[in-house]
Amino acid sequence: MQRICVYPGSFDPVTAGHMDIIGRIVDMFDQVVVGVLNNAQKKTFFSVEQRINFLRQCTSDFDNVEIAYFDGMLVDFASQQNAKFIVRGLRAVSDFEYEFQMASVNKRLRPELETIFLMTRTRHSFLSSSIVRDVGRYGGDLSSMVPNQICKQLQHDLLRQQ
Ligand code: ADP
Repeated sequence: MQRICVYPGSFDPVTAGHMDIIGRIVDMFDQVVVGVLNNAQKKTFFSVEQRINFLRQCTSDFDNVEIAYFDGMLVDFASQQNAKFIVRGLRAVSDFEYEFQMASVNKRLRPELETIFLMTRTRHSFLSSSIVRDVGRYGGDLSSMVPNQICKQLQHDLLRQQ
């Protein structure tokens, strides 16, 4: 029986914090499905294709990571992927309330699914996609905040949008 997890999020764009979580869960599960939320109500800076493309570039070294998008309920997506686990990252106490609510709702909808939380590494605790977008927009150095593979492209794309 394969241990499959989904790691869902907006990834707008993927950051070093996201990659830290992915790097840690590849050893815990046989298969990691990174689920990119494509929700018309949640406006994103990058299109779903761009977000997936960035993630693919950053995860090409892992042979048990797959990138997919979803637009419905997370629990349905997890079931479609045959996943028994949902992974989320926790940065600060401020993340807790929302995550607790989501995990509780998902547990009610699908009791067989477990949500697992990984604490961020301290050096990434301030890091979010919106910080990356803000710093990049003004030409700030993103090299410690995003994976090397996409840094140049991101600096270019974000600066152009200022
Ligand atoms: P969402 O909109 O679902 O929060 P994000 O792309 O912002 O999507 O985040 C996806 C997941 O990655 C969430 O579980 C989030 O807490 C986690 N995450 C985001 N940034 C970091 C970070 N710097 N360190 C650890 N986990 C993080």
